[in-house]
Amino acid sequence: LKVIGKYRPIEDAQWKKGEPVPYMILAKTFEMMESTTSRLIIIEHLTNLFRSIMLLSPKDLVMVIYLSINKIGPSYQSKELGIGEHVLIKSLAESTGRSVDVIKQELTEVGDLGIIAQNSRSTQTLMGKPTPLTIQSVFKTFQQIADLSGTGGQQKKKDLIKKLLVSCKDCETLYIIRSLQGKLRIGLAERSVLMALAKSVFVTPPVENGGQQILDIRKQMKQEEFEERYQSVVSKVTRAYSQLPNYDLFVPHLIAINGIDNILSTCSLKVGIPVKPMLAQPTTGISQMLDRFSDMEFTCEFKYDGERAQIHRLPDGTTHIYTRNLEDYTQKYPDIIANINKFIGPNVKSFILDCEAVAFDAATKKILSFQVLSTRARKSVQLSQIKVPVCVFAFDLLYLNGQSLIDEPLIKRREHLVENFIASDGVFAFAKYSNISDVNDIQSYLEEAVEGNCEGLMVKTLKEKSIYEPSRRSYNWLKIKKDYMQGMTDSLDLVPIGAWYGKGKRTGTYGAYLLACYDENNEEFQTLCKIGTGFSDEQLTNFTNDLKPHVINQPRNQFRIADSIKPDVWFSPTQVWEVLAADLSISPVHTAATGMLDPNKGIALRFPRFIRTRPDKSPEDATSSDQVVLMYQNQKINSQSSKLVEKDE
Ligand code: ATP
Repeated sequence: LKVIGKYRPIEDAQWKKGEPVPYMILAKTFEMMESTTSRLIIIEHLTNLFRSIMLLSPKDLVMVIYLSINKIGPSYQSKELGIGEHVLIKSLAESTGRSVDVIKQELTEVGDLGIIAQNSRSTQTLMGKPTPLTIQSVFKTFQQIADLSGTGGQQKKKDLIKKLLVSCKDCETLYIIRSLQGKLRIGLAERSVLMALAKSVFVTPPVENGGQQILDIRKQMKQEEFEERYQSVVSKVTRAYSQLPNYDLFVPHLIAINGIDNILSTCSLKVGIPVKPMLAQPTTGISQMLDRFSDMEFTCEFKYDGERAQIHRLPDGTTHIYTRNLEDYTQKYPDIIANINKFIGPNVKSFILDCEAVAFDAATKKILSFQVLSTRARKSVQLSQIKVPVCVFAFDLLYLNGQSLIDEPLIKRREHLVENFIASDGVFAFAKYSNISDVNDIQSYLEEAVEGNCEGLMVKTLKEKSIYEPSRRSYNWLKIKKDYMQGMTDSLDLVPIGAWYGKGKRTGTYGAYLLACYDENNEEFQTLCKIGTGFSDEQLTNFTNDLKPHVINQPRNQFRIADSIKPDVWFSPTQVWEVLAADLSISPVHTAATGMLDPNKGIALRFPRFIRTRPDKSPEDATSSDQVVLMYQNQKINSQSSKLVEKDE
């Protein structure tokens, strides 16, 4: 069988069962992954690595996963590496005997400190042969480094980095430095990690307790049956991980005996661990929505324009608030925390609420714009300093008193929500809804939502097909925005990957940017437009300062760019910007969705205009090329007759 047959132990993977895995194994795998742009091959390399580790040293698997995605723990614990360049250069200078200035100069030419480090020979005098790096020693040192802070911390950081550097061999240096910088550059997205994990557990069941037998049965399966089973394993693994996005907890369940069969129950929601939120599909308007929901009961909710907030209340009385990106933003909302007892019913011990935090004027009882909320700092907000408080608009309840509710229909979840929580003026409200189905009523409801400073409506299935689908952009949640009423397309969330120097009034800043959408299938950024409109002078200055540290001296493997596009600088993908445009057109220059509508041409935005940044999104959450195609088709076909056709994700 193809997948099983392709397994080969990694070269140099000579460590004994139960022993710590050498870091070299991972570095070699990174090297192989970096040398290809094919996502399938990347997954193949990763699968081989995971299988070797599962068979020999399963305890190291979680650490290997974190190191592969350049993290040292789940994202909501907000521990990050991202060591500043000057600390790394100093550590490198001290461990190689080279001068800081020489390294700096070389950096401007080579553009990758990892490569410079790999080419520099250590001059540290060592008492003996350095102990080879292991996955465990590297991971633990990374954790120690991330924990250090303050001025004394800098020296300790440098010492730990130097210790790592002197123990490095060959390509290990390159990946240690890049990992410390937080820029691994191997083109690996979390989706591929999950696919590789799924593949690994499917073809490597635990050998004890009949695993060999399972494997023999799988080997005899016909290719089609094998593929079908494998695909169902991938979707189980993805859904289970979106319910419990914490590898420390998730992986042991997955690699346990019968792990894959039980994964959805063993990895159900846990309060205190943020769930990847369910997302909505855009529509061109009411008729398209009605067409889609023609034979299903649905409900229309106001679409509030604030920031998604997932509120977790633990049985011990502590509360955490997470963004749509699973970052812990509890410190941003001391007002929600201070008011929490005003809206929890007497029988509530623990819960996970899905809400929108919206800036609110208590005096006029009016919802304020997203811009007002965006002035609030992200960290250490003091209650006494809050000028504009937020009101929480709750639209879903995912977990209550120890029970996950996500497999219940929305109508039931809503009942639990209303029974257990209490509306409180200017503090907590239930998202306004109406179960109307007449087109005129929906039109008036949409206008009412817009007059109330909302973005439009969210229309959701109510009974049939209405479970909560973590992380999925579902066709069972549709959004109708006010922009569609004004004849505009939906906005897009795009990533700046390049820029041109400004001229005239804009001299000294970048004057225009190259924006890209994200293709989830190929895990690459594809260009969509050059943008120079909609920026204030202050924004131009700030973006220049923010993006300068992320300049790279050549486009990444993961960028898909036509030869004719030549910005003055390239950036690592870091930011997401919301952009509106007049329309979308087929383009010989831009690469978004190439091959999806035309074999050689992509899609471009015409007359794009910058609206705002989306700090709650990471580059991989940008508008996908599938969505770009959908938008293009929606604008082309008369909205009266256009159908929203569900695509398998
Ligand atoms: P957008 O650019 O429209 O904000 P998005 O990519 O952040 O989109 P979508 O799934 O497309 O997310 O739109 C849903 C977002 O709208 C949610 O993430 C949430 O923050 C917000 N929202 C406001 N009101 C509701 C509601 N009643 N139900 C669900 N989401 C709502």
